[in-house]
Amino acid sequence: MKRSCARPGCSSPATATFEYNYGDQMVILDVLADEAHPANYDVCRRHADSMTVPNGWTLVDRRRGPASLAGHLTAP
Ligand SMILES: [Zn+2]
Repeated sequence: MKRSCARPGCSSPATATFEYNYGDQMVILDVLADEAHPANYDVCRRHADSMTVPNGWTLVDRRRGPASLAGHLTAP
């Protein structure tokens, strides 16, 4: 089932899912989850790429793909 971006005013198809990890103060961005989860948010590619996190938080980008496989990183 297709889902769309959760950002207000954006109706682009979602390509990524992110969640807030309050314990570690991390925002974890990953490829689009198969199923929607109430604690997660789906966003389009544009909004995933422009993701910002609160002060003191860390953004963890777990997405894989041609765009993120830069330099020495190799897929298993
Ligand atoms: Zn969007």
